[in-house]
Amino acid sequence: MAHKCPRCGDAVQRGHSKGVQMAGGLVGALFYAAFGPMECKKCGKIPLAEFPSEVRSKVITNSVLLAVAAIALFIGVVWLLVIMKK
Ligand SMILES: [Zn+2]
Repeated sequence: MAHKCPRCGDAVQRGHSKGVQMAGGLVGALFYAAFGPMECKKCGKIPLAEFPSEVRSKVITNSVLLAVAAIALFIGVVWLLVIMKK
């Protein structure tokens, strides 16, 4: 999913952080992807508040879906571990 930068009109990406990925694993990376700032190659990090409200609500909806997926994944992994221990 690509959004346009409100400053220069270029495509923005989700920000990413290797540190967060290492600390929190897949779930941490998912959470960061869901709630981290967008990043423009020219302007750097763009806070969500600078995007038009239409884009913002889309991003927030996607973030919530992603967070739910991350939690489901986490529960799935824990459940698998419990099953395997028996
Ligand atoms: Zn830009």
